[in-house]
Amino acid sequence: DNPQPKKPEWIRVKAPGGEGYNSTRRILREHNLHTVCEEAGCPNAGECWNAGHATMMIMGDICTRGCTFCNIATGRPETLDVFEPGRVADAVEKLGLNHVVITSVDRDDLDDGGAEHFAQTIRAIRHRSPGTTIEILTPDFLKCGPEALEVVVAAKPDVFNHNLETVPGLYPSVRPGARYFHSLRLLQRVKEQDPSVFTKSGIMVGLGETREQVVQIMDDMRAADVDFLTIGQYLQPTPKHHAVDRFVTPDEFRNYEKSAFGKGFLMVSATPLTRSSYHAGDDFARLREA
Ligand code: SF4
Ligand code: SF4
Repeated sequence: DNPQPKKPEWIRVKAPGGEGYNSTRRILREHNLHTVCEEAGCPNAGECWNAGHATMMIMGDICTRGCTFCNIATGRPETLDVFEPGRVADAVEKLGLNHVVITSVDRDDLDDGGAEHFAQTIRAIRHRSPGTTIEILTPDFLKCGPEALEVVVAAKPDVFNHNLETVPGLYPSVRPGARYFHSLRLLQRVKEQDPSVFTKSGIMVGLGETREQVVQIMDDMRAADVDFLTIGQYLQPTPKHHAVDRFVTPDEFRNYEKSAFGKGFLMVSATPLTRSSYHAGDDFARLREA
């Protein structure tokens, strides 16, 4: 058994509901789309959905990996739905989004890891909603050749996000099947291929990492030219998942934010409830106005 530290008062989650929340949910259901907001039981769903912001998850809801922090089912995924990019584009238009975040499960079963499906989704959204900025949060394409990533970047997302999730020493217990330096290099390759695409990455804290290790990750990311950084508290989705080591205090988060800006990140979000898609649109809009 794993006695978990008690949730502190700064991790407060409001029950979801309200008009905006319901209409977002209706549009997503009508288009038969999965969201990471629901699948991951994100604590911000009430707030985000009320504002019409959801992170859509493409290529099914079964993942070929089994990260120990993640609530998404592991197994053999379904065949790709060729109509999905169109449905996503339609939902984005109906939701009237200024900024959309698209993510996916990991598809190690596909030769291209789902790269072409990502590219088609980006193109379909662009076609229907040319004014909407597009952020993608991708898997690591570990088992694919370099062309997989090239196909995705060539579709010109505005923001390319790939999360490092945790410090390298915790990969075997948190993110088995992934490789820290592969993920870091992936981010660097995006920038090399198209410097106009903003790159973004994030980690969870409270898994057992030290402050020095977090600062080292920031340096690694900046060496790979990563533009945006998110840091949030890890919350255990069920007792079967990786244990929470501790709750990082709001002061420590402010400290991380300060260090990150000092290292040259263009955008930083570091709060207990930060998730990689939390307020992504607002932050991006502010950056473009600046
Ligand atoms: Fe969804 Fe991201 Fe908002 Fe969570 S933070 S509810 S995952 S959009
Ligand atoms: Fe979850 Fe992504 Fe890991 Fe799959 S690859 S288990 S979706 S975090």
